[in-house]
Amino acid sequence: MAAESAVHVAWIGLGSNLDGPAAHLSLALRELGQIDGCRRLAVSAFFDTEPVGGPRGQPLFCNACAVLATTLMPLPLLDRLQALEAGHGRVRDVRWGPRTLDLDLLAFDNLSMDSLRLTLPHPRAHERGFVLVPLAELSPALELGVHGRVADCLRCVGGEGVARRSTA
Ligand code: ATP
Ligand code: CA
Ligand code: CA
Repeated sequence: MAAESAVHVAWIGLGSNLDGPAAHLSLALRELGQIDGCRRLAVSAFFDTEPVGGPRGQPLFCNACAVLATTLMPLPLLDRLQALEAGHGRVRDVRWGPRTLDLDLLAFDNLSMDSLRLTLPHPRAHERGFVLVPLAELSPALELGVHGRVADCLRCVGGEGVARRSTA
């Protein structure tokens, strides 16, 4: 990471429910740390989670969160995340359908933005136990814009359907 560039903090939500979900997450966590201009600061445990939305009967998800220090700006970072998804064979057909790898940019510093490609904080993070439980492990005091602190959002939503894995 270039020493002279401003360093930002980015929170990434990881999810997978196809073709060995935990293996996809483990590899993606390594890959996140290898993105040029990114350094991995922290990683949550892995969680087995009930699917929310999408087609009925799809497999359980594996979810986790990571915190990165990055000199990238949000859109270039989203580009890198989407390139990693593509490298894992991510196919977008059914909304909220099964996927090998989903990498959501949950928050970036304390930035709020709403553009065609990117909304920050992630517009549905505050209402999802499968995001909030791993995120609260790392950054309970993180503010999700108008929705307030992660720990408070989690208290409202609850962690039902989200089970910590004994091994990541
Ligand atoms: P959800 O956004 O509800 O979690 P999803 O992850 O399945 O659903 P995707 O198909 O992965 O949705 O992404 C759809 C689009 O969302 C992406 O092409 C991207 O441009 C846009 N997007 C907007 N804000 C974000 C964000 N904070 N993180 C990731 N993608 C975002
Ligand atoms: Ca998502
Ligand atoms: Ca996504």
